[in-house]
Amino acid sequence: MSAAEPPPLLRAEGLVKSHRNGAVSIPAVRGVDLEVARGEFTAVTGPSGAGKSTLLHLLGGLQRPDQGTLALDGARVDGCSESQWAVLRRRRYGIVFQSGNLLSDLTVADNVELPALLCGMTARTARSRRTELLEQLGLEGTSDRGPSELSGGERQRVALARALVNEPDLLLADEPTGNLDSRSAREVLALLTRFHGQGRTIVLVTHDARVAGSADRVISLFDGRIADDARLSDPPAGPHPYGVRPVLELGD
Ligand code: ADP
Repeated sequence: MSAAEPPPLLRAEGLVKSHRNGAVSIPAVRGVDLEVARGEFTAVTGPSGAGKSTLLHLLGGLQRPDQGTLALDGARVDGCSESQWAVLRRRRYGIVFQSGNLLSDLTVADNVELPALLCGMTARTARSRRTELLEQLGLEGTSDRGPSELSGGERQRVALARALVNEPDLLLADEPTGNLDSRSAREVLALLTRFHGQGRTIVLVTHDARVAGSADRVISLFDGRIADDARLSDPPAGPHPYGVRPVLELGD
């Protein structure tokens, strides 16, 4: 990297993470080096148990690596405290995990507006961002409902609106179109594409070929390691390490 070149938005080096299950240690991420440039849309694919969710948790500071380093804009963040991470996430990250992260006592409107208010947006801007996002996700009319009055797919989209409301630099999303009907999946993909088009960075886990096909880059994780890292603009040569090209060979 030349001195004039800015550091990547994210740089992970030698990330290793095992989960403990009683006395048993389960390796999930076994040595991942990854640089994500600002503005890049990266899809992470791979079979169940490959370590995709764990990697996403490590990149968002929601789990700590056993080994390795993580830098955001060139500054090490792996030594940050929980409260420093909470501030970083509030200001810079949008995060959507499969479990969703809605507050059950708040309406949809309040769930979406809250992160924006916590980030210092005015109530008026937060309201207008909320209205815009819910509309783009086909959720107009749900504002006054509680999360328990929504379908699983609706909750998932509200969680995405909540993650994007404070216009984060980086969106981390785990299967944002999983469990969605095709129309809702299209709305989510259109929103992600618009967000990316504004120069923002996305790292998402997906099994959805259409979503991965919209990315700049597809990383295949296998057994806790990066087995393939393909820019969609330059098609791969040779066979895939585990025999399938899940994304690149799937058409629309
Ligand atoms: P993926 O997202 O690719 O399905 P995960 O990161 O969820 O993979 O899981 C990687 C491995 O770590 C799997 O063997 C999984 O069972 C294990 N694992 C993930 N989370 C936990 C946890 N909280 N406790 C114990 N084992 C876990």
